[in-house]
Amino acid sequence: MYADIIVDITHEKLDKIFQYRIPSRLEGELAVGMEVLVPFGRGNRETKGYVIGLSDTCGYDEAKVKEVQDISRKGVAIEGKLVALAAWMKEQYGGTMIQALKTVLPIKQKENAKVKKRIRLLLSEEEGRQKLEHYLEKNQKARARLMAALLDDNILEYELVMKKLNITLSVVRALEEQGVLVLESRQVYRNPVKGEKEESCITFTEEQKAAISAFWEDYSRGKRGTYLVYGVTGSGKTEVYIEMIRRVAAQGKQAIVLIPEIALTYQTVMRFYRNFGDRVSIMNSRLSAGERYDQMMRAKEGKIDVMIGPRSALFTPFPNLGLIVIDEEHEPTYKSEQVPRYHARETAQARGDMEGASLVLGSATPSMEAMYRVRRGEYVLLEMKNRSRMQDMAKVYTVDLREELKEGNHSILSRKLQELIADRLEKKEQTMLFLNRRGYAGFISCRECGHVIKCPHCDVSLSYHRGGKMVCHYCGYEEPKKQHCPECGSRHIGEFKAGTQQVEDIVKRQFPNARVLRMDMDTTRQKDGHEKILSAFADGEADILVGTQMIVKGHDFPNVTLAGVLAADMSLYADDYRAGERTFQLLTQAVGRAGRGSKKGEAVIQTYSPDHYGIVTAAAQDYEAFYEEEIHYRELMGYPPVENLLAVLISCEDEALLEKGAGYLKEYALRVSRGRSIEIIGPASPGIGKVKDVYRKVLYLKAERYDTLIRIKNYLEQYIEINTGFRKMRIQFDFNPMNVF
Ligand code: ADP
Ligand code: ZN
Ligand code: ZN
Repeated sequence: MYADIIVDITHEKLDKIFQYRIPSRLEGELAVGMEVLVPFGRGNRETKGYVIGLSDTCGYDEAKVKEVQDISRKGVAIEGKLVALAAWMKEQYGGTMIQALKTVLPIKQKENAKVKKRIRLLLSEEEGRQKLEHYLEKNQKARARLMAALLDDNILEYELVMKKLNITLSVVRALEEQGVLVLESRQVYRNPVKGEKEESCITFTEEQKAAISAFWEDYSRGKRGTYLVYGVTGSGKTEVYIEMIRRVAAQGKQAIVLIPEIALTYQTVMRFYRNFGDRVSIMNSRLSAGERYDQMMRAKEGKIDVMIGPRSALFTPFPNLGLIVIDEEHEPTYKSEQVPRYHARETAQARGDMEGASLVLGSATPSMEAMYRVRRGEYVLLEMKNRSRMQDMAKVYTVDLREELKEGNHSILSRKLQELIADRLEKKEQTMLFLNRRGYAGFISCRECGHVIKCPHCDVSLSYHRGGKMVCHYCGYEEPKKQHCPECGSRHIGEFKAGTQQVEDIVKRQFPNARVLRMDMDTTRQKDGHEKILSAFADGEADILVGTQMIVKGHDFPNVTLAGVLAADMSLYADDYRAGERTFQLLTQAVGRAGRGSKKGEAVIQTYSPDHYGIVTAAAQDYEAFYEEEIHYRELMGYPPVENLLAVLISCEDEALLEKGAGYLKEYALRVSRGRSIEIIGPASPGIGKVKDVYRKVLYLKAERYDTLIRIKNYLEQYIEINTGFRKMRIQFDFNPMNVF
């Protein structure tokens, strides 16, 4: 018997399958997906590898084939089915097989990572206090110290307790025996209802019922497909997913639920716990390697029915996968920024096809991709137009910032917004103010008339580059920096920038009595910083929350009745063909933040371009109108999802060599594309033209069909492998990129 093996070497240009003989002692034991040790290279160095196939014939010179040394004891086997998915990803997105294999392997090692122990108090506060008194009376000082600490904080890190409180294990054990506390060896989301599931007492709305039964009618007949649950925030999408999963699980199948990491809050997870009890598990970046391993094993052994997690949870090794749900499917984080640069939506669909699972996507603002596929009949649309509890949508005011300036208001807060903030402070209701992080990237605009300087060929905005140039990141077009607005002649032209810190200061100055919280990259750097700020705000510890788009997700804040978007244009003119879409999504989510509770909400959108369709349609909360305009633009420009785009990123320390290499690649791509219509743009300098002394160039290949681009990618990969000239370059592929480089 022989094994086809992918050897784990980082050398990108050696992406080959090697055949090894299986020694008789390993026969029957070796399986696809296993990590093995093999002799490799001239020195026969012991090297790791993955078995991706088994066969009984030798495709090479029998005498030269080496033997597998052993099965790696520390290694984690990749599920056989996921090996096939990895192969699909390699073909679809480029990169090497080993990179793809490592992507579908969510944990690297079997390692029993240092498990953190924690002590959890099992008593109520009152019982605890009685115990404390009791210990003090009896002069049991160690016990009293521990109890006092536990009353402060119900969960303590064991290590910390031992050191800081100077308490021995025997004391902890003694109290554990009495049922006072428990020593836990793993961090788990505990079921708040003490292991009991709650009977759901929801009566589904007509729309929810329709969505569930449309899905179920197909599913119960064995028909699998992709569904888009398009429903406004609060329409009850999560309840719909839960019901679908319940039915799928009742058939003995498992489900994966993807949620953007940022929205993976305690609240959301708890809703799944209430429904599935300990048959649900969570995978997120806060888990240690050992904890991840355990979760994966539980999934593999069929001990759970539902896995919730961000993008990488897609590779949960369930034995009988029945359903994949992707919530907030429009989120850009579903696209990986590492090779292979896969998109979870497409990859989930591929996995579903391979394993007989359906895919359910959900969003209040579906991605252009998803809705386009609905229109083409590839996805089934399940629409929910009303909020489950029938709240009204917020009333939206659009403020033209140019008018504000004319009226002499130079503040970043328009008069309307100031008036409404004051009103909320009076009523003791809360306000959220959004600033787009993209603002830092900067685009060039006129402060007086709002005109934005764009590339004449690409319809995206130009950016400042050092050396007094304005540059297009798509095509490389450049022109000298302008001193006057070409539209109105004003000298107030420049890069638009504003930070959250600045906004916080202004708000505090203007409303000295308001309690203001700020949430951005700076204030959330510490562990759980994000969660802490949001729960402080939810608990009413502040009147105003200022933040970047990270505050549009996660918690529900029933007392927020005002949402303000300070400068809607910032995302609109980021130099990216997805800018309109991002802006629409962000605005819709921001507006949706106001009035989740029983009180009616209001929202203010401040902008320099009140007539832009992205803003008009968001203010009207009219997704259909936005979609129609946007798809028209994508059609005209040949951008995804109408056509397909492949970015080839080339980097090299030698600038001249890079220039040459990029040129050759372009030429070769044109040559091999003969007969098929493709368009090649560039090579252009990406937004960041040099990182750590490595220069970068990007080529954009546009084609109607995705498989045309795959074919060209394969040609290019071969060309790069054969030609030693490319050895010094790093070349990456990005299909339908989320960001422009
Ligand atoms: P979405 O995921 O679309 O934002 P959720 O599923 O989170 O919506 O629902 C919003 C809120 O409404 C939640 O508190 C949920 O428990 C509640 N809810 C959903 N469906 C119903 C229903 N049919 N009846 C009553 N409450 C519901
Ligand atoms: Zn102007
Ligand atoms: Zn251009």
